[in-house]
Amino acid sequence: MSDFVMNFIADVKAKNPAEPEFHQAVQEVVESLEVVLERRPEYRTAKILERIVEPERVILFRVPWQDDQGQIHVNRGFRIEMNSAIGPYKGGLRFHPSVNLGILKFLAFEQTFKNSLTTLAMGGAKGGSDFDPKGKSDNEVMWFCQSFMTELFRHIGPNTDVPAGDIGVGGREIGYLFGQYKRLRNEFSGVLTGKGLNWGGSLIRPEATGYGSVYFAAEMLATRGQTLEGKTCLVSGSGNVAQYTVEKLIELGAKVVTVSDSGGYIYDEAGITRDKLAFVMELKNVRRGRIKDYADRYHGAVYTPVDPTHDYNPLWDRKAQCAFPSATQNEINAKDAANLLRNGVYVVSEGANMPTTLDGVRLFLDAKILYAPGKAANAGGVATSGLEMAQNGMRLTWTREEVDRRLHHIMKAIHKACWDTAEQFGMAGNYVNGANIAGFIKVADSMIDQGLV
Ligand code: NDP
Repeated sequence: MSDFVMNFIADVKAKNPAEPEFHQAVQEVVESLEVVLERRPEYRTAKILERIVEPERVILFRVPWQDDQGQIHVNRGFRIEMNSAIGPYKGGLRFHPSVNLGILKFLAFEQTFKNSLTTLAMGGAKGGSDFDPKGKSDNEVMWFCQSFMTELFRHIGPNTDVPAGDIGVGGREIGYLFGQYKRLRNEFSGVLTGKGLNWGGSLIRPEATGYGSVYFAAEMLATRGQTLEGKTCLVSGSGNVAQYTVEKLIELGAKVVTVSDSGGYIYDEAGITRDKLAFVMELKNVRRGRIKDYADRYHGAVYTPVDPTHDYNPLWDRKAQCAFPSATQNEINAKDAANLLRNGVYVVSEGANMPTTLDGVRLFLDAKILYAPGKAANAGGVATSGLEMAQNGMRLTWTREEVDRRLHHIMKAIHKACWDTAEQFGMAGNYVNGANIAGFIKVADSMIDQGLV
């Protein structure tokens, strides 16, 4: 690491204390950019890095709401408007008790580069709350969403900032948020993506992140003349991204043997079939139950609860060729990465954002496996949000086939941009550097064009 990069990261840590996920995301990107800064000194002169790690705006607000028993609760709401150099702010909302400023800043920072890679005009943002939708009634979730939007509405708009879903924010929450925005503004506009099909949503948006991550894996395999057919795959999570990752993998002839939630994971040696996936979808999206029920329903499957005394995740210690982490950040540490490699995994496509720690990433890169970082592999979600915005703007809806075709095309384009950029900078096959550099250059050049703002 050069002195400049080391000092830069030390400054970011000093200026943003107690935000380890943000430090991690910045370090990964800045390490990749060393070579770019050498070739393009104008970025140093214009202080692009110093500006790009500083959010353009951070909004932090109180969200009071009442539960079904009449008790009053207060949560914290956030919106990080990170960078608008290439388009309106765009990025999801996360409702989870772990949410804090540092986590949302890491997500908004990643989002800036990811959105740049999609080929569409979208800036970077992220937001959310430490509210936990688990165990809440539909009414409680609605009261919360209405209170959250009662503050957020004044900061967003279809040409300003367009939020979407993320962990804990799915179709139900987007519906309540949209309803309240419309009521407060007296305006029906494409201010959120992930909307219901009857009121401005796009076909394939729910599927897009998972499908996109599988399309990216298929592109990586194609560079070695291989396909996903017959490959054994490990998937973590059982939410939106995981479900559609499993669906596309089944369609392409792969065998998926795991899914998980925050309570534990199931291993189904026979493979998850379409029927079993339908059970998972009903369990998670309708009954809002726990993944443990899968093992009660399907006798060949084994459930292993999370053991907090373990320093590794047993889900990643199974024989397979491909892994699709699709739950949350830092779910693969160095030990997990070593276990994956030992078990024969040579394709890792990150559906989740930053699921691998820096040490884990280094192991994957050293082993020269096909490793796709989240900002490239899971960009299909936000790309399809961009397609939803395009349809809203035209007041038209495209067919399922049309949106899927465009998504597939975008994932191929992202793969090519990462591949070509890595090669151009003398690091062929390194998708981490390829994604960081390709995403960065477009934003950095736009910032220079627009002057000191
Ligand atoms: P969901 O809320 O639909 O599902 C999240 C899944 O991950 C659930 O199975 C959940 O289990 C599990 N999970 C969440 N937090 C933890 C934790 N701390 N430890 C273990 N398991 C956990 O979210 P999504 O599927 O939308 O998001 C998953 C990941 O994909 C996130 O990293 C998100 O940022 C990323 N992503 C999502 C996009 C989208 O379009 N939705 C786009 C791009 C990235 P439980 O039910 O027990 O909480």
